[in-house]
Amino acid sequence: MENGVKVLLDPDELPTKYYNILPDLPVALPPPINPATKEPIGPEALAPIFPKEIIRQEVSRNPFEPIPFELREAYLRLGRPTPLYRARRLEKALNTPARIYYKREDLSPVGSHKPNTAIAQAYFAMKEGVERLTTETGAGQWGSALAYATNYFGLNSTVFMVRVSYDQKPYRKYMMRLFGADVHPSPSDRTSYGRKLLAEDGDNPGSLGIAISEALEAAVTGTNTKYSLGSVLNHVLMHQTIIGLETLKQFERIDETPDIMVGCVGGGSNFAGFTFPAIGQRLKGKLDTRFVAVEAESIPSLTKGQYEYDFGDTAEMTPLLKMYTLGHTFVPPRIHAGGLRYHGAAPTVSLLLNAGIVEARAFDQLSTFEAGKLFAETEGLIAAPETCHAIKGAIELALEAKRANEERVIAFNFSGHGLLDLQGYADFLDGRLPDT
Ligand SMILES: *Cc1c(COP(=O)(O)O)cnc(C)c1O
Repeated sequence: MENGVKVLLDPDELPTKYYNILPDLPVALPPPINPATKEPIGPEALAPIFPKEIIRQEVSRNPFEPIPFELREAYLRLGRPTPLYRARRLEKALNTPARIYYKREDLSPVGSHKPNTAIAQAYFAMKEGVERLTTETGAGQWGSALAYATNYFGLNSTVFMVRVSYDQKPYRKYMMRLFGADVHPSPSDRTSYGRKLLAEDGDNPGSLGIAISEALEAAVTGTNTKYSLGSVLNHVLMHQTIIGLETLKQFERIDETPDIMVGCVGGGSNFAGFTFPAIGQRLKGKLDTRFVAVEAESIPSLTKGQYEYDFGDTAEMTPLLKMYTLGHTFVPPRIHAGGLRYHGAAPTVSLLLNAGIVEARAFDQLSTFEAGKLFAETEGLIAAPETCHAIKGAIELALEAKRANEERVIAFNFSGHGLLDLQGYADFLDGRLPDT
């Protein structure tokens, strides 16, 4: 590594295919189940909701799926390939023999990894004549990614944003509107479900479960309209593998092999995107890397949940998915890392955890913000509260390497910046941040 700080790839080194982990899994992925009949659900049941190509990708057994030229061009504009940085100043502060690297997914136009799948979903929808995508968003990270992507490919978008966030976190809403999205506080008067809830309680603060229900209803009842999801499902995680494919090339470029790869987990998409290509290598016996998923201690689906069939949403509208879950009625506490407030985790990530390929750790809110502050002081970057969990995980592993006096190579995914999450840092700096 000549410059010692960052590893870049040329634009023509952008991956041409996504990696699909399904055929490489150590056991077959348990299928989604119809809650009424308890029978496995076939892909055709998803046709009213998702574009055909997305359904094909969701169940594809091909080891790779091509990224068409036009979509690759969109990835270039999104800032891909993204750099891999060496955290030398953080290493020095920790006085660790570990070498720490991080992949810069904060450099996209909306500041996170989420556009990696949004742009693909918008492209494949556009290709089959879909004119509008609907979705839900909590704090607005996913909504802004989808608004960016639909705008790019000339589609319309409808985003149902949880009402409390719509009122309390205004900036993401304006970002979405700048990209042409129709943004509605949920519950809204745009759907029959929303109108019913508003009739019962005009001040309903909303929830992600309600917003999902509204987005699904708007997709099913709209003309040329489909629904789009930002995490959890196989096709979403597959689009995100563009992160890990680049990362492996970057490590190869500097003759380095990651001993441990770390990512934060909400639904599991950035963790999977970062690690799955390397997990595929480990499953084939070509790498012996460890994989550490980091979650919030107050929402401990991976470390304390059950591996069982559960609904993906609170309103019981989705099929049952086999995953680590706290139960779909679990109400996540209102931590600042909004993207980690999910009761379950992606079925593929869950399977790999259950199979012992992935390890999980949980940290409390205060310690993750402390890690975020150290990262800002040393590396000069302000991380999203979700990303602070990955940083905390990497720091702990680097301190373990120090105690063992071993030169371990630790890589983590820097999933997003925190420039629109300064309220969390304000609470932290002013001493008002609760542990959970
Ligand atoms: C949404 C989000 C997450 C969590 O979602 P995953 O699907 O688990 O990746 C993590 N980091 C950032 C910056 C996010 O916006």
